[in-house]
Amino acid sequence: MQAIRTLGQFVEDEQIVRWLAEQIAQNHRDSDTGARAVAKKARLPMVCSTCTATKACCSSYVIVRLYEGLVIADTLKRTGRDTPELRADLRTRAERMDATPVADWFTPCLFLDGAERCTVYAVRPTTCAQLYVYSSPDLCNARSPNVISYTPRAEVAHANELEEAFRERLSLRKKVGRRYLGILPRMVLVALEAWDRTDFRDYLRQLDWPTEEAWAAAVSRAP
Ligand code: SF4
Ligand code: SF4
Repeated sequence: MQAIRTLGQFVEDEQIVRWLAEQIAQNHRDSDTGARAVAKKARLPMVCSTCTATKACCSSYVIVRLYEGLVIADTLKRTGRDTPELRADLRTRAERMDATPVADWFTPCLFLDGAERCTVYAVRPTTCAQLYVYSSPDLCNARSPNVISYTPRAEVAHANELEEAFRERLSLRKKVGRRYLGILPRMVLVALEAWDRTDFRDYLRQLDWPTEEAWAAAVSRAP
């Protein structure tokens, strides 16, 4: 008889984090290739690779899929960073984001360190890794509508396909018309809180996942 496993044991035994990390890394590489191809064709500069400005991009409202929260949770677990203080910070941050209109949110990310570096860089969310800007960093910091950036259509489609495949592997049925995604701090917190539960599937399913329409509307209001 199969032993009852926690989420952490399940994803370890089934190599799910490793599989996700490989898929995410490939998606990051595809974004880089795509952004460089556009830059070459349109003779635009790859500004992010040499940007030394304050990272306005890391103060934005970041929406991620649950699987992206899971791989970050795994990194935090393995590096001893899953502490009660971190979970409290994640919760406070998520509640503040919920109470703030998307367009008004401009706060440095919890995972940005004092030197403006991402502390979960290898497994940073797709939203972050797919952002390539061809215009001045000043425009990013001014939150200008004139920022010119790469549009990662194929990479977003791949990330959405990966979400479907992830739910299949976890045997997580999707509520009709709902998406397993949310704001970055909440997705990481949900994954951490599910990590040691043997009833993780029931726990995850009963959460209040957003409708496709709600997220489409939220994203369209994002800066
Ligand atoms: S998105 Fe803007 S602020 Fe962020 S690294 Fe690129 S140029 Fe700099
Ligand atoms: S996860 Fe990393 S790259 Fe993304 S916003 Fe936070 S610090 Fe920036």
